[in-house]
Amino acid sequence: MENQGSAQCVVIGSGPSGIACAKALLERGAAVTIVDIGVELERDIHHKVQALATQDPSKWTEGQIDSLKAPLEFTLSSEAPLKTVFRSSYPYQQPDPVRFQQTDTRCVVSQAKGGLSTVWGGHVMRYAAAHIRHWPVSNEDLDAGYAAAARMIKPTRPKDDDAIDDYFPTPYGYTHDHNLTAQGELLLQKAVKYKAQLKKQGVVIGKSRLALSGGCKEVGLCLSGCPFFSIFQADRWLEETLQVEGALRYLGGREVVKIQGNTLTGILRASGEPFELTAQKFFLAAGPLGSARIVFQSLGLQELELPLAYHPYALTPLLFFKNFVGAPQERRHTLAQLFMEVWFPSVSQSPVHNQISTYNPHIKDAVNALLKSYRLQAVAPWVFKFLLGRLGAVQSYLHSNEGGKITMIFRKTPGGTVLILKSPNSTQVHQKFGALFRSTLGAFMRVGILPLFFMSKIGKPGTGNHIGSCFPMAHQPGELQTDAMGQLPTLPTMHIVDASVLPDLPAQTITFTIMANAHRIGSKSALE
Ligand SMILES: Cc1cc2nc3c(=O)[nH]c(=O)nc-3n(C[C@H](O)[C@H](O)[C@H](O)COP(=O)(O)OP(=O)(O)OC[C@H]3O[C@@H](n4cnc5c(N)ncnc54)[C@H](O)[C@@H]3O)c2cc1C
Repeated sequence: MENQGSAQCVVIGSGPSGIACAKALLERGAAVTIVDIGVELERDIHHKVQALATQDPSKWTEGQIDSLKAPLEFTLSSEAPLKTVFRSSYPYQQPDPVRFQQTDTRCVVSQAKGGLSTVWGGHVMRYAAAHIRHWPVSNEDLDAGYAAAARMIKPTRPKDDDAIDDYFPTPYGYTHDHNLTAQGELLLQKAVKYKAQLKKQGVVIGKSRLALSGGCKEVGLCLSGCPFFSIFQADRWLEETLQVEGALRYLGGREVVKIQGNTLTGILRASGEPFELTAQKFFLAAGPLGSARIVFQSLGLQELELPLAYHPYALTPLLFFKNFVGAPQERRHTLAQLFMEVWFPSVSQSPVHNQISTYNPHIKDAVNALLKSYRLQAVAPWVFKFLLGRLGAVQSYLHSNEGGKITMIFRKTPGGTVLILKSPNSTQVHQKFGALFRSTLGAFMRVGILPLFFMSKIGKPGTGNHIGSCFPMAHQPGELQTDAMGQLPTLPTMHIVDASVLPDLPAQTITFTIMANAHRIGSKSALE
């Protein structure tokens, strides 16, 4: 048994919630140990990426880029493939059909140093005060958390307030912005021109807010891995902070099994040996599935059933009226260019969040695959000339209340804990998206886009890992609910600080709020 001695505060996990909590604790003068599975990018890939990053992008060869870019296997019927980073799937725990069983859901568990921020899209938006009013958390507290999270991830925003700020005011000022593609620019111009008419239709469009903490070098590789690591990653914050902050210790390669009283026990990933650590307080930031597993094992139960909220999700191809012939050659970022918030009471009581993207190289791969499946490769040059510069995509997210709940079942077996995920009935989600598509058609057409709704893919529950609320914070917490400090009544030394404790999930992006709340809990707890 490896004994790691005793610590003041232990954070489990090094993803966005773990580091936001750790930062708050450090700011208040606490000594922090992060315990993490902490898998890192394979060394050979890391060297290739470093080689690219030290070269002038204009000197990169097609071969160099292709060796790091995942090929997209796209068919009409399949779901979009799981996003990898530099062709590596190291951010995700490897599929284990015994320990983790799911068929009609699409959740992932992170095992990476930096968690899923090593592969995320970096889209950041706060929740509106009106939509979290029922939470047992003060809006001011969360605002301070948002501001702290913004100092870490440095989100972009337009210099002057735009339509999005009217409804989702940002608690941070302008520091930098991102450039739009020609398609994005035209779209924004039209959105500004028709702002009043769109508003009447319940639609607000503005520039996307992106966690481009490293500043964008515009090489167009966001979807397969940025060699300059321009999109915020928690592991990079961790590395930088470890260099300067003596009060922070990192223990990687360790899987936490349970926490009982002041003792944490786990196993060393490399050898399977057990290890132990004692501390005054523990902050659970292992992602909802990882954290729920640790809670289940800490409670010593035989079986536990928990609800898991998720954002219903759809991906729809877009056809721009205008052909932007130069789009495939343009080198900008390939994340969402614009956010579109939609208020339609017939679809949802809360605004629907849409992320609009313009051309990216995956679109060419998808068109190619489509032509191949219909044996139409001969017309590819013609199709590319007249179609590629017209294509884009929109990702739509609904409030978690519109989707029912995934059921998580943890079961103790002689071989260890098994997690089974069961999907809720998705009929309502399909109906909601149908209503959304009908209601937004006019708004899209007004800004010069025809959405190809007949080609929309509605993701399985859990797609994109926008999941949480399995131990929701409540004013008067029940047995498996948490108080405003993320604490379960039966585990008094533990604060849960990831998405598990959010009472529900408004449709806007999830990670900014996860970080704001984790920072809030860390900060308040250090004062206790
Ligand atoms: C492809 C993709 C794109 C996304 N894009 C966006 C986006 O654009 N905007 C957005 O807001 N969100 C996005 N998300 C979601 C976002 O990545 C998550 O919300 C965020 O990473 C959650 O942070 P977390 O720290 O709570 O958990 P995670 O990032 O999951 O980190 C969990 C950490 O816990 C550690 N861990 C797990 N189990 C244990 C254990 N037993 N013992 C020790 N350590 C453990 C892991 O090693 C990891 O460090 C995306 C997700 C994916 C997969």
